[in-house]
Amino acid sequence: MRLVDKRTLKPVGDPLSADQMTALNSLELGVADTNQDALAQRVIEHARNRGFWLECDCRESSKQPLLAGVVYGSGTVGWRSLLGEGRPSHSDTCVYSRRNRDAMAYWATPQTTPVDGFCAILKPSGDNKPGVAPGYQRAGSVTRRKSIPRVTRVLRSLLVEAGLNSCVPYSERYDQDENVNPTTVSYRKLKQASAKFEISKGFSLKDYLHTFAPSYGTPYFFKELRQKFNEWPKGSMAQSFFCFQAERIEKRTVFLAKLPGKPQKVIDLDFDPVAPKIHGTIVQGPYLFFGVTGKDAQTGMIDIQRAVLEPVVSRKEFVPVDSDLEREAWATLKFTLERASSEYPDYTWSLTKPLFDILTPEGACLPDMVIEATGGERTYCFVIECMGLDRPDYFASKDVTHSRMRHIGDLIEMDGGELKSDRTIAGRKVTETLLDLMER
Ligand SMILES: [Zn+2]
Repeated sequence: MRLVDKRTLKPVGDPLSADQMTALNSLELGVADTNQDALAQRVIEHARNRGFWLECDCRESSKQPLLAGVVYGSGTVGWRSLLGEGRPSHSDTCVYSRRNRDAMAYWATPQTTPVDGFCAILKPSGDNKPGVAPGYQRAGSVTRRKSIPRVTRVLRSLLVEAGLNSCVPYSERYDQDENVNPTTVSYRKLKQASAKFEISKGFSLKDYLHTFAPSYGTPYFFKELRQKFNEWPKGSMAQSFFCFQAERIEKRTVFLAKLPGKPQKVIDLDFDPVAPKIHGTIVQGPYLFFGVTGKDAQTGMIDIQRAVLEPVVSRKEFVPVDSDLEREAWATLKFTLERASSEYPDYTWSLTKPLFDILTPEGACLPDMVIEATGGERTYCFVIECMGLDRPDYFASKDVTHSRMRHIGDLIEMDGGELKSDRTIAGRKVTETLLDLMER
């Protein structure tokens, strides 16, 4: 791979070093460490500033695919494949064939920025007392949606950065390893993503994110945390984060997921965590239990000060869902994805649960799920809405939201009642509609 001038397409400067190429590939695959990330970023910024493109080397012919450096809405950088008419596409084995950056750029721009600045939750001034956190529910009208609590926004930003809110067909999963527990893989991705966030200047979230529940709350844990808190920079509140799997909540006691060979661990809160509710009842687990630990201003005691219970698809898949019905939808849409990718193998397919509003010319909307096909002659985007009866607010606003969603792609509705009784039938209908739309 080498950089070329985008007007003349002639090579410029020295060829990329082996380290630079490895860093760029790792960034694309989402496995870059901090050094590789910084190195890749420098190359991409250099190319952008000087008007250079990256010429791939995955084709046998002399004409190679070209990539342009882009900055996404979240501030991260990457390459976008230039796949216009007459341009060669990447070979199937090329890392850049996995995702079409045109589509990625589309997604990154319209979404409202997930977390602004540092991801700190506790602020030096203001009310940090563990009061009753505002429960969040989908508001009756999308134009007056309640704002998402910061603790939820930080968790969701992490999940998006880690790519955990989407999946690709089974054959495309490059991290498929029979010997590795999928939960371990998800936690690893979460940790890698956390390296891209800072709590305060120079304080990476990665060093303050606990994901191993058994050690949480032990005397050693508190000793280590006190030490870290003592080294905290002036002007920002000392805080650390945790993310554990939880199976249920009773009153204010959170039951963490049972780990093999370990006793059941519970965490007692003295406030209500943020959690989605349907008719006043918290959506059932499994959950990701994510929160922030800080020092109580009065007593100096270290305790949990903010927390969210985010319902997820399963213990293996950290995909947030709004209801049990969406778990059914996700499960059956994965079959839709398999079927579509076997019928149209030239495209790169993905299924995504959007976690932040998408801005359209008519206003913001948040589709339930989205299936995308990129890298072929054109990009296809299908918005899938679960028409659930357990969401009475939904019908009031659906005319408005659905009209907005049509800006993103073809809208396919899923019948909630059918999903409940037989998800396979509901899923098949989506598959058929989607394949019909592909043929048009
Ligand atoms: Zn390539």
